[in-house]
Amino acid sequence: MSAAIVTGASRGIGRGIALALAGAGWDVVVNYASNAAAAEEVAADVEKAGAKAAVVRADVADSQDRHRLVEEAYRAFGDIGLLVNNAGVAPSVRADILEAGEESFDRLVSINLKGPYFLTQLVANRMISAGTAGRIVTISSMSAYTASTNRGDYCITKSGLSMLTKLYAARLAEHGINVYEVRPGIIATDMTGGVKEKYDRLILDEGVTPIRRWGTPEDVGKAVVAIAGDLLPFSTGQVIDVDGGFHLK
Ligand code: NDP
Repeated sequence: MSAAIVTGASRGIGRGIALALAGAGWDVVVNYASNAAAAEEVAADVEKAGAKAAVVRADVADSQDRHRLVEEAYRAFGDIGLLVNNAGVAPSVRADILEAGEESFDRLVSINLKGPYFLTQLVANRMISAGTAGRIVTISSMSAYTASTNRGDYCITKSGLSMLTKLYAARLAEHGINVYEVRPGIIATDMTGGVKEKYDRLILDEGVTPIRRWGTPEDVGKAVVAIAGDLLPFSTGQVIDVDGGFHLK
């Protein structure tokens, strides 16, 4: 295995992906935005799993940071075979789309959509120059297809990631780079911590997730490991739902 860049790997789903990849033999670039201590802990766990780790602080919304992230990743490992666009934020306050403000919209678009779009461009060009047959996996959400009118900004960024996946899959196929979208359902992380009671009711009592349990970062990590391996060589532009069947309802 070669090395993987995982954005937003200091906590939650990104952490789960980083550790699952390390367990499968991938070296990992652990990217984070501000939580250095958490990122260092993840790096230590990656090394405990027998892989190498490099920690890089970079705001995916910032062009200079994205360039530095990629430079540091290649300097650390010489070659990158996998980019996982995981870093993302939810709106701090939910607001009806008839009243929502521009500030939250701009923030979410910069981090959740513009960041992955241009980071993918950077990494794809490096893979092409190096002749690396790579993989790009982007973490979207079931919000890519559910119209939650009290967080339209989030839904728009996540549905944009579906098109990002299709566009890059179509463009990069000739270079041996396969591109996938992973759509997690309700996963227990800091992002969902504030709405735990509501989701407990939806999952455990009402069964919105047919597999009646919370998803875990490990569930998403396992899916990324499967995709990043060579299990799907003739599939690209694919969506993989990691949602306990949420999309069936
Ligand atoms: P968390 O809030 O638990 O973790 C977010 C991670 O992203 C942290 O590592 C954080 O770094 C990093 N991050 C935030 N902003 C930036 C930035 N600008 N640049 C680089 N890194 C950044 O979120 P989750 O693990 O729950 O979510 C991860 C992804 O999965 C997101 O894209 C989210 O939309 C998606 N998702 C989550 C679901 C869920 O139920 N939890 C469901 C569906 C999709 P730091 O620690 O430094 O702050």
